[in-house]
Amino acid sequence: MSKILLPTSTAGSLPKPFWLAEPEKLWSEWKFSGDELLQAKRDALLIALAEQNATGIDIVSDGEQTRQHFVTTFIEHLEGVDFTKREIVRIRNRYDASVPSVVGTVRRPKSVFVEDAKFLRQHTDKPIKWALPGPMTMIDTLYDGHYKSREKLAWEFAKILNEEAKELEAAGVDIIQFDEPAFNVFFDELNDWGVAALERAAEGLKCQTAVHICYGYGIKANTDWKQTLGNEWRQYEESFPKLQQSNIDIISLECQNSKVPMDLLELVRGKIVMVGAIDVATNVVETPEQVADTLRKALQFVDADKLYPSTNCGMAPMPRHIARAKLNALSQGASIVRAELIGK
Ligand SMILES: [Zn+2]
Repeated sequence: MSKILLPTSTAGSLPKPFWLAEPEKLWSEWKFSGDELLQAKRDALLIALAEQNATGIDIVSDGEQTRQHFVTTFIEHLEGVDFTKREIVRIRNRYDASVPSVVGTVRRPKSVFVEDAKFLRQHTDKPIKWALPGPMTMIDTLYDGHYKSREKLAWEFAKILNEEAKELEAAGVDIIQFDEPAFNVFFDELNDWGVAALERAAEGLKCQTAVHICYGYGIKANTDWKQTLGNEWRQYEESFPKLQQSNIDIISLECQNSKVPMDLLELVRGKIVMVGAIDVATNVVETPEQVADTLRKALQFVDADKLYPSTNCGMAPMPRHIARAKLNALSQGASIVRAELIGK
């Protein structure tokens, strides 16, 4: 893997070009269909890669140009879920959304992202990271009229995710990341079976594995929720001890402008930590010095060879020029701290 000290990456998504889907919103409709859509997504992927290269990102991704949403696009490719049969459910106890229904045995008839991952692999020699939704976050965006058990459905999804992850690994993906924002919300389930289901999704993988746990995109429902969390966000305290004991290699989390006490990172000592040093809930661009400051604070609790500077969460809903400026700030901030470490 990366031999660079403090290799930079993003949590996952980057803004889409205006011609692919309406920018600055989630679940934005595609502007093409069929073969044209396939071609347009690939072109967008190459732009996302070029922007990561231009801004000095070391571990690159597809910028999630191939998906409409980080959870639903994966589920759309599965059998057993009916997207026309919709129910209103409460997502992460925070906001209501119309979601598809589980109507039968869930199954992955064929690969979901493997062709896209191969395409990315062909176009870069850098380490690549691919994001998949985590089992607990998947079940939270569905109405289940079939299994009628969140745990049972999560284990089914974990098996399916593992199949996909193994194919992504074979396609040359270096890091497979599971997005589990639900780990910051459902603590009983997290402890009962959440981390175990995540480990099942990562079972047998030889590439590195990551879990991304955040406080969500910078949308109003999330920022309103954050207002209710008080002065110290201690949610990570629930998942970290179990994750420290797990087979997951990397923990990706939100640190910039968040009220997460940095000393919580001590709880995952020994793991690689992707430290979110870019706030995705504001268009105010961090200065390199602000990024460096967050990284220095994290270095009190994370060994330098295990710290990967990153963004708090995905940047899909942001204006493109802001996202690019933030990636530049991330690289420059990491350079400042890298120089300090090497100078020691
Ligand atoms: Zn996130």
